[in-house]
Formats: sequence, structure tokens, C-alpha cells
Amino acid sequence: MLIVMDHSATPEQIQAVIDTVTAAGLQAEPIPGSQRTAIGVLGNQGPVDDTAIRELPGVREIIHVSKPYKLVSRDFHPEPTVVEVGGVRIGDGATPVVIAGPCSIENEAQMLAAAQVVKAGGGQVLRGGAFKPRTGPHSFQGLGVPGLKLLRQAGDAVGLPVITEVMRIEQLEAVCRYADILQIGARNMQNFDLLKEVGRLSHPVLLKRGMSATIEEFLSAAEYLLAEGNGRVILCERGIRTFERATRNTLDLSVVPLIRSMSHLPIIVDPSHATGKRSLVPVMAKAALVAGAHGVMVEVHPEPEKALCDGAQSLTGDGFGELMVDIRGLLGYLGY
Ligand code: PEP
Ligand code: MN
Repeated sequence: MLIVMDHSATPEQIQAVIDTVTAAGLQAEPIPGSQRTAIGVLGNQGPVDDTAIRELPGVREIIHVSKPYKLVSRDFHPEPTVVEVGGVRIGDGATPVVIAGPCSIENEAQMLAAAQVVKAGGGQVLRGGAFKPRTGPHSFQGLGVPGLKLLRQAGDAVGLPVITEVMRIEQLEAVCRYADILQIGARNMQNFDLLKEVGRLSHPVLLKRGMSATIEEFLSAAEYLLAEGNGRVILCERGIRTFERATRNTLDLSVVPLIRSMSHLPIIVDPSHATGKRSLVPVMAKAALVAGAHGVMVEVHPEPEKALCDGAQSLTGDGFGELMVDIRGLLGYLGY
């Protein structure tokens, strides 16, 4: 439920509403706006009887929000959220962000070479996985903490903030020490214990859509992060599992405008995991920006044919450079 106050409501009237909500055993979250204050009501299991509140002075309107994700919804927070990290602003409606780097951190030379092409092309955030969620146990599982150090070192060498995936609560301390943004991958989108723990941190979080998650499940997963206090959340569409096998996943680009209308959180697109094919990545990255994505995340490897993970979908350094030139042209056309 959302209680909208009159624009002339006094601080005492606002406090009286908060007290009434709290006395009913619910949580009240004031949302100051440029015109008027709203008070979000959380903690109710079903519809709330609003008669006591409706009568209070200064109350203009009561909106019943039945969605399971209130904090991430535009109803509770009409202004877009901008996630700022290392001088990069994600979701501010200005230039979209480009996050790029290898699937996995493999060694110092590979990570540094990747960082250099990402920086040279104009990428703003460097990615690299140290803890890899691999489908089979015999595949390369990532370098772990030594990999995190190489990622940090490469990011520092070229002056880019870094993002890496965290799979388990026990990895959080190390990942927070070395990374600027925490990534929660598709396979962990509904790891609720991990979401709660990350929600208690102040690091920005990139939350990827689960491969069979509905939009409601996706936004509800983000709600876990906000409910624990971490509002620095970026959503990421990375394709969903359908009957189609010609692409690795099916890129659901329609979620971009849809989620933008439903939520204040920034949403970016990962065309690498969505398509699984290097040849499709640039065009789908551009399509994502046309659809209104606040950015893209692409896999880039200095030698994709030697990659320990996801080489077939990784751009070469040259390929990334060409994509960035194309993106700059497109942004002008889109009016950024
Ligand atoms: C990744 O980005 O490294 C990754 C594993 O992606 P996803 O969780 O989308 O499969
Ligand atoms: Mn990958």
C-alpha cells in the first residue's frame, strides 16, 4: 500500500501516519518526492484495512499495491535509480554503460590483455569470473581468490572498476575485497540466502535473470536485495531457456521496455550468454540499446579460440573495438 500525502502535509501529519501504520504492526517507509511525500507500507500479507489511515489529516490518496515486489516497483519509487560506481553512472539516462571482459579470469597476461582492449575500445567496467558456475564438474571452475586478485590488478592497471560473480555466501568477503560490483548469476537468481546476505552489503549488485524466471520472479528476486537495504541494484537480461536450440538462449528484449516501465532499477542486456554466438553479439547488443537498455555486458577475450570458457561467444579485441565504434554512432542516432 502507498499512502500519498497532500503537498501541504506537515511533518507532524506525516509522522502521525507513520505511527498509525507502525501501531498496526506494519512497516512505514517515507518516500519524499519533489511535489509531495508518499509513505510505502510493507509487511502486510494480504489487503490492508485503510480506514484508520484514510481519516488522518494530510492524507491525499491511498493506492493498494498488490505486487509482491513493492520496493523495486515504480509505484513506490517513481524516479529512476542511478547506480554509481568508480565514476560510472548506470541508469542515469545519459550514455549507456558497456561492461566487457572475459568469461573467466585465466592468467595474468590474458586478463591484462583483455583489460587493455576493453579500455581502448571505451568500455567502462571490466568483467571477469573467478568463481564459475559450470554446467559440468569437469569444466574449468575458475581460479578463485587468485583470480580475483588478477582482475583487480588488471582493472587498476587500466583504470576501470571491476565486476565478478559471487556464488556462495562464504565467497562474499573475498569478492567484496577485490570487486566493485557483485554479480549474481542466472543460476543463483533465486538463491534467497545469498540475496539476503548481499542485500545487507553496500556494494552494487548486478542481478541476472534466471534462465526460466518470469519477470515477476526476476523482480521479486531483486526485491530481496532492496528489502535488506541494498538499493544499488542493476538488472540484467541474459536470455531465457526456450525450445529453440539454434541459439544458446532466447534473448527476451521485450523485457527491457517492460521492466523500465515497471521498475526504477536500471536494466542492462548480456547478448553473449543470450545468443552463445560471437556473430550475433554485436547486432543484439545494438538492438538492446535501441530497446532502451541502460547498458550491455559482453564477453571479450584476447584469444577466444584458446578461452577456457565461452570462447564461441567471446568477441575478439578487434571485434569489440568495432562494436564500440558502432555503438557510438548508434547513440548519436538514438539522441543520447
Ligand atoms: C557470466 O556472466 O559469467 C555468467 C555465468 O552468466 P549467466 O549467469 O547469465 O549464465
Ligand atoms: Mn560466460
